[in-house]
Amino acid sequence: MLHIVNRGYVYRAAPISPEVERYVRQCFGADRKIYNLHVAHLYDYLEKNHYQIGDKLPSLKKMGMPTVSMFKKQCVNKDHVAYLYLVDAYASNEAKQHFKKAIMAFNKVAYKKQYKRSALKRQKTLGIEPTFRDLKGMPTFHSRKGSKSSYTTCNQNGTIYIKDDILYLPSAQKSSVKVVGFKLNKHRDLPKNSKIKNVTVTMNAKGQFDVSIGVAFPLEIESIGTPARILGLDYSQSHFFVDNEGKKANYPHYYRKMKERLAKEQRILSRRKKESKRWEKQRLVVSRLQRKVVNQRKDWLHKKAYALAKRYDMVVVEHLDLRAVGQNKYYANNQQDNGFGHFRLYLTYKLEQQGKYVVQAPKNFASTQLCSTCGHQNRALKGNVTIREWDCPSCGHHHDRDINAACNLKQYGEKYTKEEIVPPTIVV
Ligand SMILES: [Zn+2]
Repeated sequence: MLHIVNRGYVYRAAPISPEVERYVRQCFGADRKIYNLHVAHLYDYLEKNHYQIGDKLPSLKKMGMPTVSMFKKQCVNKDHVAYLYLVDAYASNEAKQHFKKAIMAFNKVAYKKQYKRSALKRQKTLGIEPTFRDLKGMPTFHSRKGSKSSYTTCNQNGTIYIKDDILYLPSAQKSSVKVVGFKLNKHRDLPKNSKIKNVTVTMNAKGQFDVSIGVAFPLEIESIGTPARILGLDYSQSHFFVDNEGKKANYPHYYRKMKERLAKEQRILSRRKKESKRWEKQRLVVSRLQRKVVNQRKDWLHKKAYALAKRYDMVVVEHLDLRAVGQNKYYANNQQDNGFGHFRLYLTYKLEQQGKYVVQAPKNFASTQLCSTCGHQNRALKGNVTIREWDCPSCGHHHDRDINAACNLKQYGEKYTKEEIVPPTIVV
């Protein structure tokens, strides 16, 4: 069957002229400006309406948020030019969408009333009481320094296209820059018959540009029918994952070494005088190393996912709220580090494009607590991660916590294919 698939392809790119670079930087600025105006309005509203810690944030409509075009009209530079009109219109709207997402993300955790660690430290050492601005997940102002700059633009009737390895992006009507082009370092071709949907331009600390091209293309996918080789994967903090055969995916040694080096370089950076020449130099060292660590990890994840997708017809994973895992103070570092979310994503598309399956067990499937031999549910395991091994009180079978969970997931997958219905689930 012919399917339409969406993918993103990232290329290192260089602006074709200094004017283009200036224009792109303006776009970054506009994106940031619009976002920050939203945040400022939000803070203002919360202060005036005596926001109570623990409450959800109101909708944009309720807080009387001006529209993007109103913001655009308001903002004039010292020469009375409404400079937000000089950049890609789509970029400004995107900033609003980001803000909306930030509000939604905050509302999910608002009831927890947690402050940022830095705010708690400040309270302890300087006696400054934290405010709602210090709540974890509260939208904050984007700074020109530090975080990487980016903006996204959308293809409308061929406004984005590639010709002779140059990527052309739409410009703004009122901008003096008419042609926005990037010379691509095309290390690989886009898939055949692909249509460009959108492009995100980012700039790193060194001032280098990357473009991520979102494309949709047709792909012939043949279903493999009933899956024969099924694998259960249990997410594990210490081993990344454990499968039902007891195999562990250990992170490679070189990666850990890199992390140690990165920590060392970051310590050196923290000792240098901010904004000094030596500081600036060290900042680049750190950012290059950070990028390297990210790339190594991504590479490893892709290879691991590829190997599994080649070998198995179906992979069963548990339902995992990675956001919740990330907020557990014992786990947070580890979780961000091994990027299980990315892995799951890579695994899914690598299997699906071969007509294979990825199955996620439902939230209430107690993969850890069930005995994979007799099906007894051992409630003593609930919420207690310290028990690594246990004996089934019903059949007496000795279990390794992770392997047992992976076995249950595999069994879930087997039932799923045999009956093609969701098996009865256990209420936890
Ligand atoms: Zn048992």
